[in-house]
Amino acid sequence: MALSRRPGVEIVVLERAIPGAEASSAAAGILGAQIEGHEAGPHFDMLCRARAAYPALAAELRDLTGIDVGYKRCGVLKVAIEGERADVDTRALEALVGWQRKAGLNAELVDGARARSIEPALADLVVAAAHFPDDAQVDPPVLLRALVAAIARRPGVEIRTGVTVRGLLVEKDRCAGVALDTGELRADATVLAAGSWSSLVAGLPASLPEVKPVRGQLVQLDERPPRARTIVFGAGGYVVPRGDGRVICGSTMEQVGYRREVTAAGVHHILRTALALVPSLGEAQLGPAWSSFRPFADAPLIGASPLPGLFLATGHHRNGILLAPETGARVAALIMGETRELEGGALERDPSA
Ligand SMILES: Cc1cc2nc3c(=O)[nH]c(=O)nc-3n(C[C@H](O)[C@H](O)[C@H](O)COP(=O)(O)OP(=O)(O)OC[C@H]3O[C@@H](n4cnc5c(N)ncnc54)[C@H](O)[C@@H]3O)c2cc1C
Repeated sequence: MALSRRPGVEIVVLERAIPGAEASSAAAGILGAQIEGHEAGPHFDMLCRARAAYPALAAELRDLTGIDVGYKRCGVLKVAIEGERADVDTRALEALVGWQRKAGLNAELVDGARARSIEPALADLVVAAAHFPDDAQVDPPVLLRALVAAIARRPGVEIRTGVTVRGLLVEKDRCAGVALDTGELRADATVLAAGSWSSLVAGLPASLPEVKPVRGQLVQLDERPPRARTIVFGAGGYVVPRGDGRVICGSTMEQVGYRREVTAAGVHHILRTALALVPSLGEAQLGPAWSSFRPFADAPLIGASPLPGLFLATGHHRNGILLAPETGARVAALIMGETRELEGGALERDPSA
């Protein structure tokens, strides 16, 4: 049970707006362990474990709340398009497929015709593609609604909204809780999970890597009847068909601080990329566009911190939706002393716990 609370533990979630107000509801929802994997190793293994946890999490949320979070093992095609870079891009796809197959995963390099048999809406200019049939998707705003509904019903869990954390309470070199705009909340374990705003919390250890906002814009198109069904990645962006006609097109990666604009240049880039990948989207109805901030750190910050009593669940950058079940399980096990962290971030199960 991914959402179980350990007996005897009281949990308070503090949120200055409403849970899911920021990046977690804005995301495209790609569970792209393989498309986001750059090399074999512990990080890639973590992405794959997180993806593998999703079918059970989706089923558990449906049982608990009746909400279908839109989990689909729809697969991803990463494509090379005709032109000057086609050979270089195809060789890069070949290398990607090569090391992932060696790691024992499902991945295939296909030519343009085969790619179009997998996704008939794909552009004729696609000359080759890496196909990752096990990569998947969820619908993030629905996922967040289901998560909040599921945990709000649990005894021992309280969600306080409209509450801003000002800083950590640090006593005798230990985190003893948090200072709020309305007082204090003391706790044996405090988890920093403030996304792109994490580094603004006062009292963090100076050695903690900074978490910076990376703005991403998305545009929704409505395709009636729905045609595309596979996620398509190209050099400049991606297209995520939800299966019901909504197609989420992304994105941008912009270091503009906390500016929330959806810009003309951003939308232009996103639509140009989407239509190059799936030309029939040119006929789709233009839907809403939005932006939010990916919490960027050099690597995800998940686990214990240099300050005893403070744990980290932030810095997930492009993969926070994917990593959510893994982050939750890892942080909970560390807090409860069921595992301990080894140098390099690996976890060892504590035999005494
Ligand atoms: C355009 C875009 C597309 C993306 N696509 C994908 C994708 O396809 N797949 C994927 O896996 N990931 C994707 N991501 C990344 C993913 O959305 C993030 O990594 C993840 O949602 C981060 O979750 P979080 O809880 O750390 O941050 P957030 O969801 O931003 O939540 C942080 C919360 O902390 C609250 N908060 C901040 N400061 C305080 C404070 N002082 N006191 C109280 N509350 C506070 C905020 O109000 C906010 O609700 C995408 C992100 C963007 C922007």
